[in-house]
Amino acid sequence: MLITRKAEFSSSHACYRSDWSDERNREVYGLKANPHGHGHNYVLEVTLEGDPDPITGMVLDLKDLKDILNREVVEPFDHRFLNHEIRPFDTVVPTAENITIEIWRRLEPNFRKGARLHQVRLWETDDLYVDYFGESA
Ligand SMILES: [Zn+2]
Repeated sequence: MLITRKAEFSSSHACYRSDWSDERNREVYGLKANPHGHGHNYVLEVTLEGDPDPITGMVLDLKDLKDILNREVVEPFDHRFLNHEIRPFDTVVPTAENITIEIWRRLEPNFRKGARLHQVRLWETDDLYVDYFGESA
C-alpha cells in the first residue's frame, strides 16, 4: 500500500554553474541563471510503501511523518536562498531535479524500518514536477 503526505515550502534559487561563463549559463539555464535568484512555492509529496499494522490499521503514524518532513525539509529549506544557505547547493545546481534528489537523501534514512520511502515528488510550478524513486530506479 502507498500513502502520501504533502508539505510546502518557499525557497529561492538560481540555476548557474560558477565554473561556466555568464553567457554559457544563460544559454543553458535561460532566465533561471540570474544570480540574484527567484522564488518558488514548492509543493512536496512524499510517498511511503508498507502494510497497515493489524492492530492500529496504519502504515505509519502520520504525526511522525509530518514531524520528519518538517524537520528534514520544511524547516531547513523554507524562506532560504538555496544556493547560499543550504548544502549541497553551494556546489550542486539547485534545479528541481537536484532538489528532489537532496530531499530523498535527507528523508530516506528515516524510513529504514517499517514503511519505506517509495517516491519523492516535487512540484516547482503548477505545471512542472519531478519524481524520484531513489538511485536504483
Ligand atoms: Zn526556478
